[in-house]
Amino acid sequence: MTAPAHAERAHALLGASKASQWINCPPSARLQDGVPDKRSEYANEGTAAHELSELILQRRLTLCNQAERKRLDKAIADFQTTSTYYGSEMGEAVGYYVEVVEERFMESKARSSDAVILFEERLDFTEWVPDGYGTGDVVLIADGVMEVIDLKYGKGVPVSAIGNPQIRLYALGALSGYSFLYDIREVRMTIVQPRLDSISTDTMSVDELLAWAEEVVQPAAALADAGEGEFKAGDHCRFCKVKGSCRARADANMAAVSYEFKNPALLTLEEVGQILAITEQLQAWAKDVQDHAFDQAVAGHVVPGWKLVEGRSNRAIVDKEVAEKKLEEAKIESDKFLKPRELLGIGELEKRVGKKELAALIGDLIVKPAGKPVLVVETDHRPAINSVENDFANEEF
Ligand code: SF4
Repeated sequence: MTAPAHAERAHALLGASKASQWINCPPSARLQDGVPDKRSEYANEGTAAHELSELILQRRLTLCNQAERKRLDKAIADFQTTSTYYGSEMGEAVGYYVEVVEERFMESKARSSDAVILFEERLDFTEWVPDGYGTGDVVLIADGVMEVIDLKYGKGVPVSAIGNPQIRLYALGALSGYSFLYDIREVRMTIVQPRLDSISTDTMSVDELLAWAEEVVQPAAALADAGEGEFKAGDHCRFCKVKGSCRARADANMAAVSYEFKNPALLTLEEVGQILAITEQLQAWAKDVQDHAFDQAVAGHVVPGWKLVEGRSNRAIVDKEVAEKKLEEAKIESDKFLKPRELLGIGELEKRVGKKELAALIGDLIVKPAGKPVLVVETDHRPAINSVENDFANEEF
């Protein structure tokens, strides 16, 4: 599919989607300015899911005449037949999101018959952030309550609405655009991440949201716009375009590894726990530095001490049909050159058949054995296994 309209949303220097970066590390905004975006397949897939959602929501929740209904039906059918990203997984995820939005809209209507719903609104929060704007997926306004809903199609990183600066900025933009027309007292911010089965909502009074804007957003935005302030590494570095070459992040990680080991010769379990706590962050950083060095080398720059070489490659049959024919003609038994037919894995089956359909057909044949014990931080939501020997007495690892 060609570049979709949603992908063409311009990115402002202090855009909402980068808010956690420029609020926590104001100079990061100017440092990334001009560094090209690496648009991933995941981002394109997310854009496609947003497009489909908008079409379905428009068709189901807005008053439209027959011609408009026809246009939307055709657009949905065209999307489903032409988008390379569309499949049962996207169909189900978008369906889940649409249901949540419908539910919230019905709740709004129950509170007030003249509830308002807006899709893909440009939300302008320049009152607090220079050139600050974003695009809100859904804005609902009814009876003093405004709700902003955001779809996150990705499933790699869980995203919660609680304390989320991106959706708060959307809410500020919506407030700025509609508080003249409606008496809004409370703001709800909801993130729906259907492929992680996650819906989270944060609620603030308008006064609380405005206080956050004045005390946190405005000063950080002024520093970021001027390219000033202090660099600060943290979780927000994950999507920073200079994360592989940033000195502040390198310093923070090097400080973390300059751990002072004391006597005796062996580490105590307490020390081991402290080292484990930083390994994830160090692994992520090491990978980002490797990727950065690779990109530089591919672009023709010399990274002292390193060089690009040809990697390992596998032999390949250029024409499988001809090869198969020749092996048949040579009277080789087919089980010597053809793979046996075998059932796909559960994930792939769910993708192709559909989650619900698969569960209805063979749900009783799917089991989930106990997973291997893994060591995680103690704040992880899963209950601790107290005795591996007891809990896993009949398992083999
Ligand atoms: S990598 Fe992190 S510390 Fe460095 S500029 Fe980006 S956000 Fe700031």
